[in-house]
Amino acid sequence: MRDRFQREITYLRVSLTDRCNLRCVYCMPPEGIGKRDHSQILSLEEIEEIAREAVALGVRKIRLTGGEPLLRRGMTGLCRGLRAIPALRELTLTTNGLLLAEMAGELKAAGVDRVNVSLDTLDPEKYRRITRGGSLDAALAGIQAARDAGLTPVKLNCVLIGGFNGGEIPALAALTAREPVEVRFIELMPIGCAAGLGPEAYLPCEAVLERLPGLEPLEPDGGVAERYRLPGAAGTVGLIRPLSRCFCGQCGRLRLTADGRIKPCLHAREELPLRGLHGPDLRRALEAAVRRKPERRGELSASVPSEAARDMNQIGG
Ligand code: SAM
Ligand code: SF4
Repeated sequence: MRDRFQREITYLRVSLTDRCNLRCVYCMPPEGIGKRDHSQILSLEEIEEIAREAVALGVRKIRLTGGEPLLRRGMTGLCRGLRAIPALRELTLTTNGLLLAEMAGELKAAGVDRVNVSLDTLDPEKYRRITRGGSLDAALAGIQAARDAGLTPVKLNCVLIGGFNGGEIPALAALTAREPVEVRFIELMPIGCAAGLGPEAYLPCEAVLERLPGLEPLEPDGGVAERYRLPGAAGTVGLIRPLSRCFCGQCGRLRLTADGRIKPCLHAREELPLRGLHGPDLRRALEAAVRRKPERRGELSASVPSEAARDMNQIGG
């Protein structure tokens, strides 16, 4: 399935819930989200039906995200259902890791290939501050459990935040020295709550290259991350630069929100409702979303917020 600009659309990101057990300052309001009726959120059956149709159209990789995807009851059953779609090549998820210690084995058995875990700091007090109350120990235990269960290679998502974790770049990158993990530094995107943090919160990925001049560039692997390796390291360092480099030219993604809307572009307002659509109608709506993908996002910088009209916990990153 190609869009109007000849980009192959192969990747679907699915937000299973907009609820979360953390309240990261750049993602969610401190009070969390209002209680939603079950009927406002896609059922697991609806998600599987949409995923099957997307795979029939050419999607080959699905990432489950949120909010916190591990909070969604029945999600391992959904993973089994998705894994049974023959043409699907990869099933992954992005999680804060807090529930991984208890769920990693079950997720592996359900067919999840690997996980990305968010980790913005290695300091327990700073972790509590940025997540508004989370336990770093629980996240680290989750990362270990994921590795033990074979949900590998584990990727660690670290959002760079000015005045917060720039000084930890060497320590975070050093996690790759002995373990085959990928530490991915991600530029903070001014969406929803993050836009309210102000331009000072933005720290470009260039800071990683400045602090780690020994990083050796690696061949691109087709993803959005530029990849590097510290000399002799077992793992890799990735840079994801949604602001300082525009990677719209390689965007093969669609995003499904927990309330059943498909977003052709992360940074655009446009969303197409899928609820209640089945068979050919559902297929036509997905094809329309692909046709509606813009060639590139609008302007986006530390001082120009995203046009997306939602917080990140509703979109899934
Ligand atoms: N709760 C899960 C987690 O934290 O990994 C999954 C959902 S979270 C919205 C997905 C990813 O988006 C996380 O790695 C998070 O750090 C990242 N994220 C959230 N808000 C962001 C923002 N404004 N800019 C860049 N990344 C952001
Ligand atoms: Fe929750 Fe993930 Fe958003 Fe943090 S980044 S509040 S863990 S959804």
